[in-house]
Amino acid sequence: MSSSHELYQQIILDHNKSPKNFGAIEHPSHKADGYNPLCGDQITVTILLDESKTIRDIRFEGSGCAISKASASLMTLAIKGKTIKEALEFFERFHQLITKTLPADFNVELFGRLNAFSSIWEYPSRIKCASLPWYTMKAALEKKLETIVTE
Ligand code: ZN
Repeated sequence: MSSSHELYQQIILDHNKSPKNFGAIEHPSHKADGYNPLCGDQITVTILLDESKTIRDIRFEGSGCAISKASASLMTLAIKGKTIKEALEFFERFHQLITKTLPADFNVELFGRLNAFSSIWEYPSRIKCASLPWYTMKAALEKKLETIVTE
C-alpha cells in the first residue's frame, strides 16, 4: 500500500466520521433526494442559490456507506461558492476522475482532497457510491424533484 493510498483512505475515514455541511438548509432554493439501491445509500441535498446563480450554501443528510458520505462531504466543500455552470463542469470532471476517463493532460491537483476517490474505478460497484451525491446535486440544480436512482 503506497503512502498516498493511505492518505486517501484517511481522508475518506475522516469525512465519514465528521462530515462537513451535514444537515439540511431550512429554506433551500433547490433540493433533491438520491438513492443507490446497490449499496443502500440515501441522500438528500439542499442548496441555496443567490441571485447571481452562485451556490451560497449546500448541505446533505441521509445514511450510507463511508464512500458515499465522504464523497458528499467533500463535494459540499468543493462546490460551495461556485456558479451552477462551474459546479456542473466540476461534476463532469470528477466523474471522469472516478471512471478513469480524464484527458491524460488534465491537472488532477485541481481536485485537491477529492483525489481520495482517484482509484475507485478499480471497484466498479463503489463508483455509484462516490457519484450518488454528485448526481443528486446535479438533479437539485436542474430542479428535478424526483428521487434519483443510480443504476
Ligand atoms: Zn455506498
